[in-house]
Amino acid sequence: MYFDTHAHVNFSAYKDDGEKVLKRALDGGVFVVNVGSQYSTSKRAVEYAHKFEAGVWAAVGIHPVHLKVGKFVHRDENELEETEFATKGEGLDYEKFLELAKDEKVVAIGEVGLDYHHFEEGDDVAALIKKQREVLIEAIRLANEVRKPVMLHCWDAYDDLLEILEKHPVVKKGVVHSFIGSHKTAKKFIELGYKIGLNGIATYGESYDKLIREVDLRYILLETDCPYLTPRPLEKGLRNEPLFVKNVAQKIADVKGVSVEEIGRITSENARKIFDIDTSRFQA
Ligand SMILES: [Zn+2]
Repeated sequence: MYFDTHAHVNFSAYKDDGEKVLKRALDGGVFVVNVGSQYSTSKRAVEYAHKFEAGVWAAVGIHPVHLKVGKFVHRDENELEETEFATKGEGLDYEKFLELAKDEKVVAIGEVGLDYHHFEEGDDVAALIKKQREVLIEAIRLANEVRKPVMLHCWDAYDDLLEILEKHPVVKKGVVHSFIGSHKTAKKFIELGYKIGLNGIATYGESYDKLIREVDLRYILLETDCPYLTPRPLEKGLRNEPLFVKNVAQKIADVKGVSVEEIGRITSENARKIFDIDTSRFQA
């Protein structure tokens, strides 16, 4: 059994076959959390979760790059609506997100976080950082209100994220998804009670082997971040999907010298605990 803790089958890359993709994952023994990056895709993630009796859950939140009014061509082309190429400067509408967050299929608030990487020339960086920080603190308030963990996106901002998590503790903790920091930074998050999400990036060469070796399996969650970040040895450019989380597991198995089944079992148990779900009823 495997657990793709961060997928985006709710994005438009799967608009024609999303249900089939999820069914394929479940048939292959992979549970999935679909993650929203704005209100529309969050709502879609919840709807998907309800289409399946078991094995598919949702996270609802607003990705920090959506807080800016402008264009974000790099990734948005595959999201829910093609008209949303432009980011709308959408904030966190607390009441609307609270309604979604209360849903029994919602297991985390996310993705939310800080992204200092995608600023462009002409951006009012100070104002954007201020807004990202404010919205993250609001998201933490929401997570604590519904007693759920957070699913954190963070790029070029680990120190600021650590500072915010220390000052604004999340009762149910959470995961730093798509972690690309050093093992030392990972340990700081682990000390605060957070898990480390690893995806296809870990399969691109040996840059993260040290991180994989140094971080105990008890703190690792697997994810795909599909449709992006297709893990090796699959072909570059192939649309990623939850089933391919097994390739991420294989990489960790190779580096740690543990069987891939054991990696699947332990990381799924980590996911089950952090998301507070009973998976025993759904034998995958
Ligand atoms: Zn994501």
